[in-house]
Amino acid sequence: MTMKLDILAFGAHPDDVELGCGATLAKEISLSKKVGIIDLTRGELGTRGSAEIRDQEAAAAAKILGITARENLRFRDGFFTNDEYHQLEVIKMIRKYRPEIVLCNAIDDRHIDHGKASKLVSEAAFLSGLRRIETTIDGIPQDAWRPKVVYHYIQWKNIEPDFVVDVTGFIDSKIEAVLAYSSQFYEPGSQEPITPITSKNFLDSITYRAQDLGRLIGTDFAEGFTVERYLAVNSLDNLI
Ligand SMILES: [Zn+2]
Repeated sequence: MTMKLDILAFGAHPDDVELGCGATLAKEISLSKKVGIIDLTRGELGTRGSAEIRDQEAAAAAKILGITARENLRFRDGFFTNDEYHQLEVIKMIRKYRPEIVLCNAIDDRHIDHGKASKLVSEAAFLSGLRRIETTIDGIPQDAWRPKVVYHYIQWKNIEPDFVVDVTGFIDSKIEAVLAYSSQFYEPGSQEPITPITSKNFLDSITYRAQDLGRLIGTDFAEGFTVERYLAVNSLDNLI
């Protein structure tokens, strides 16, 4: 049987997870949590690079962060829909890795796939808990599994977070993982077309946004998330 994971992070495109919550994942892994990443597409519509290059970059980024398992569902970049077929494929991954926590794309963003993936994964996380929805993997029936929570990371748009994670000490790992996608981001002297995410400004924004969220909670760096229902704590001093 596949190893159970604590956290399963989904992204519409390879690099979404690293950009949205790479430092949080690096921190959780340092705390001995087992973390997996599921990419929904290979990002084949991206202006720069190719699906094959991004496969290699995704594997390198996973290694930098210390990810236990990374899979790609090979949905169609730009055109996947939130329907029964795609939900069942996501359910199979949730039941395979049985995470307590699911992380997924920003609820709304510049790229249309992000909001779509956000809703798709969130709905699949609920449906995954219904035992009458039957799925198999390699011919073996899967048990129902519902994660305790679904949190959404933040990407291009400045979405107001519902909570933030102190990631001081882990921002360097995040940047290193993001830069593993060398076909996608700022590279001085590159001859490839310019896009919104290839500017130095965008690369810098990863650090200054984390710095600004850190400033607001009195630490050096932080990453923000939104929730779908109240965030519950066992006691008031669980908070930093
Ligand atoms: Zn994306």
